[in-house]
Amino acid sequence: STSSNLITATLFPGDGIGPEIAESVKQVFNAAEVPIEWEEHFVGTEVDPRTQSFLTWESLESVRRNKVGLKGPMATPIGKGHRSLNLTLRKELNLYANVRPCYSLPGYKTRYDDVNLVTIRENTEGEYSGLEHQVVRGVVESLKIITRQASLRVAEYAFYYAKTHGRDRVSAVHKANIMQKTDGLFLKCCREVAEKYPEIKYEEVVIDNCCMMLVKNPTLFDVLVMPNLYGDIISDLCAGLIGGLGLTPSLNIGEGGIALAEAVHGSAPDIAGKNLANPTALLLSAVSMLHHLDLNEQADKIQDAILKTIAEGKYRTGDLGGTSTTTEFTKAIIDHL
Ligand code: NAD
Repeated sequence: STSSNLITATLFPGDGIGPEIAESVKQVFNAAEVPIEWEEHFVGTEVDPRTQSFLTWESLESVRRNKVGLKGPMATPIGKGHRSLNLTLRKELNLYANVRPCYSLPGYKTRYDDVNLVTIRENTEGEYSGLEHQVVRGVVESLKIITRQASLRVAEYAFYYAKTHGRDRVSAVHKANIMQKTDGLFLKCCREVAEKYPEIKYEEVVIDNCCMMLVKNPTLFDVLVMPNLYGDIISDLCAGLIGGLGLTPSLNIGEGGIALAEAVHGSAPDIAGKNLANPTALLLSAVSMLHHLDLNEQADKIQDAILKTIAEGKYRTGDLGGTSTTTEFTKAIIDHL
């Protein structure tokens, strides 16, 4: 049967604008005849005791089984006794590297025309370990955890990514002059991995200087790898260089070959349910999922159609200064396939 040729992927439409932009992905994939069958999972309405969050055990199992998925943004419900949805996914699926490509979109004018870089963020530890406490009244402490294992793992991925994506330089971003032990260990691990990849240039950049260089001339960089908090900040800075959150995709890489694609942005409650969201970030995330699956022909076809639609300028969503709805923009992409 034809269904045996289909790859099964998990899809979390997510909250807010999530279902609207996930629908856009489904329509574009159908039109492009992508051989993917979606297994849809929804965020639950009550806490699953097995995951201690609103994500069910079954939905996590779906990603583990399929090893590949796409997730819409998830708003974290307020209240006690459960874990954040995004943190649950990261921890349970061991999503150790967050890859965020960032490149100028032809025809959409920003301050720079030639941004083309990739940030790779360590996703499991650093300042996000959740270890905070009060020492005495008026004094609190937050532990920044850096391990050799997680640092080697993300550095390995960064060099592997550079090598397999035709990129020739990896910059490790750090503040080891002050954070001598933590960032020092991170750098030591990057150096060890760099020695195994003599064909890739390796450099180290202090984070404050890195910010200045990125804003002044983003073409100075190629692949950037860094601990968790720096990655969070630098990748948003990079999104700003090319036109904002409606455009930037990401791919989470996990243990055992798992890949979970998601947009960088959140659930955008201010425009949810109004057919106003820009689906580009989720669509480009889905494209990176296709590349991960080696479905490069379909990936390129969809990416070309997105870029042509934006370049043409006739159909653009509000965040890019246009007046098109999500569905009009999606239809324009399908017409360009
Ligand atoms: P947000 O990214 O949802 O929105 C910030 C601004 O950008 C808003 O004005 C929004 O309208 C706009 N925007 C974002 N995506 C857009 C798109 N695709 N098209 C057009 N405009 C877009 O950030 P927020 O408001 O700080 O967060 C809202 C919720 O999302 C919170 O509950 C937060 O926890 C959650 N969140 C989830 C993720 C995730 O699932 N990975 C990431 C960030 C925030």
